[in-house]
Amino acid sequence: MAFSLPYPRAARRYEVFRQMIWSQATPVASGGRPDFLHDEIEVQTRWFGGEYGRIFTGTEGERIEVVQFGHWNRGAGPDFTEAAVRVDGKLCRGAVEVDLDVRNWMKHGHAGNVAFNGTVLHVFTDQPAMNRVFTRTEANANVVQLLLPQYSGLQGPPDFLPEAFPGRCLAPLAKMAVPEVESLLLAAAQYRLRRKSERLHVMAESTSGEQALFQAVAEALGFRHNKTAMAVLAQRCPVAELLAMDPGEREARLFGAAGFLEMDLAEAARTTEARQYRRTLWDHWWRVRPEVEPAPHRAIRWRNDGTRPLNHPQRRLGALAVVLEHWERLWELWEKPVNNFQKVVNNWSKALTHPYWSRHYSLASEAIPKPVRLLGKDRLRDLLGNVVFPGAIRVSPDRWQEYERLGGVDTNQKLRRAVLRLFGTDRERQKLFTRYYHQQQGLLQIYEDFCLEDASDCRHCPFPEQLLQWRTADRAGVRVDPIQATGGIV
Ligand code: SF4
Repeated sequence: MAFSLPYPRAARRYEVFRQMIWSQATPVASGGRPDFLHDEIEVQTRWFGGEYGRIFTGTEGERIEVVQFGHWNRGAGPDFTEAAVRVDGKLCRGAVEVDLDVRNWMKHGHAGNVAFNGTVLHVFTDQPAMNRVFTRTEANANVVQLLLPQYSGLQGPPDFLPEAFPGRCLAPLAKMAVPEVESLLLAAAQYRLRRKSERLHVMAESTSGEQALFQAVAEALGFRHNKTAMAVLAQRCPVAELLAMDPGEREARLFGAAGFLEMDLAEAARTTEARQYRRTLWDHWWRVRPEVEPAPHRAIRWRNDGTRPLNHPQRRLGALAVVLEHWERLWELWEKPVNNFQKVVNNWSKALTHPYWSRHYSLASEAIPKPVRLLGKDRLRDLLGNVVFPGAIRVSPDRWQEYERLGGVDTNQKLRRAVLRLFGTDRERQKLFTRYYHQQQGLLQIYEDFCLEDASDCRHCPFPEQLLQWRTADRAGVRVDPIQATGGIV
């Protein structure tokens, strides 16, 4: 393994490298994230999860501070109710509406709907370039407006996957010695880890540490397809409320709020065991259903396509319910990092079993012959890499050494594409640079930073030319000091 700079110095090196590249690049496309990729519920989830922070400047230059984010509205009316915002020092209590475009307020008829009269803040991610559009209620009151960035800076570029093909950077990367490529991947991985850590920290500040951890665990269990759905559920079922319930009630609350107990949507249970389990959940759920169930148009959208049966969203939700039964230890680990996380978390996960979910894929499925772990090897690594380490690294930067040793996960579509573009079909290099989790994360970061930002079929991508600078800096003794040794460049 190559020499590793301590955390977060290599992260800083990659950050400077990235900034320098983009400051020299000629834009070949503009317009930000295409609308079709910009999901409203995703923006609402990020807003409520506190990812954008809580201090803003409004469209009229007002200082806006979100004192409380309120609650997800399960019925008609604005998206969030019982919120409180301070505008230029004045506290305003009411609802918050989050839209993709400021014009949706009119388009969706909110301007003539009395249910929106208590809105104190209209949040949106886009507005027309030329015309000023105001937000007015049915009572003709002006609503304070807040334009969010196209996507949160903490999240990185959009999750857009172009077709994979070997890139223009393949040749310069092939000329780089193994330790040079490794130092690049290490730095990109540190940068990515630092951003994840910052995101969790901002969320914890905006909500609470436990709620931030809960949402992060739920997202990790949701995989790519159901990450947002899990985040919405985690917000609609706050961890503090769930922990105050007994396990049966808690499980029913999660499955009911997820919409999995609706009879018209539910697949018919194939076995007596499945029918009985659903009946148990329903016995708890029907009592709270009227107060908790969201309106149909606010129902969470789940995706089953493209997921293996073991990763069915219902099974993942079963796993989340079981994690809550063993919550205390996980919370302890997050707050007070220990040595050898991998072993400790692995041992913790052995206790995660469930009489139904250890042997079923879904609420309708037949039993699997042998019990299967609720969190397999890859899920655990993702939980470590995406939740536990990003949380711990803030408290204890020396965790980086341990993170570096974390093994890689089975390749996924995004990673396969990144590997193909950067290393072509050179199997030896492909293997060499994907063995560890940090290498995979570094590759994903480069892929997101450059491949997904590129709209020129590699022609205008500045990355290949700048690789030479990275090598020069490496050879000039960047290991002594990543910033000073290169005159502040890389
Ligand atoms: S877009 Fe840039 S980083 Fe991605 S493959 Fe092409 S040259 Fe390489």
